[in-house]
Amino acid sequence: MKKVILAELKELALAAKSNLWKNAKALDRDVKLYLHWSAGHYNQFWDDYHINIDSDGSVYVSTTDLAELKAHTWHRNSGAIGIALLCCAGANTNDLGKESPTGLQIEAMAQVIAVLCKALDLIIDSEWVMTHAEAADQDDYGPKTTCERWDLWFLKTGDKPGTGGNILRGKANFYSERLP
Ligand SMILES: [Zn+2]
Repeated sequence: MKKVILAELKELALAAKSNLWKNAKALDRDVKLYLHWSAGHYNQFWDDYHINIDSDGSVYVSTTDLAELKAHTWHRNSGAIGIALLCCAGANTNDLGKESPTGLQIEAMAQVIAVLCKALDLIIDSEWVMTHAEAADQDDYGPKTTCERWDLWFLKTGDKPGTGGNILRGKANFYSERLP
């Protein structure tokens, strides 16, 4: 894992841009961002995601090639970037537990979304930026059906289920308007 600042992440995205779009278009898709939590511990890193965000909001990449194929989102990995908050060990759908997403993690994810969408020409909207809960619902293994995956269905214990994606995209749009 390599710790990066947002300016470095932007450069990595620009370097991978043509291959990401080529890989996506080969399957008649657009480039997409998938938002996860790891369901592991704070500070426990995973190679399955291109980008890992720790509890203090620091951002790490598991590869210098953001177009590399990684196994993060079932049937959706080509031409897609997987981004995970390192958290939510022991979470259940009523209580996100002792390692719930931190405020710093949530803000960092929103900033990462803003930077990547600008670099990759993506609109910050649920068509291009979705939580694993949202993607899983489209593929019938999300909270509406089997609930096999429900990453970021909500961000804090007590929040209304289903609100996580819109909160993250709303924050990302806020940061996007302020990017240099
Ligand atoms: Zn996931």
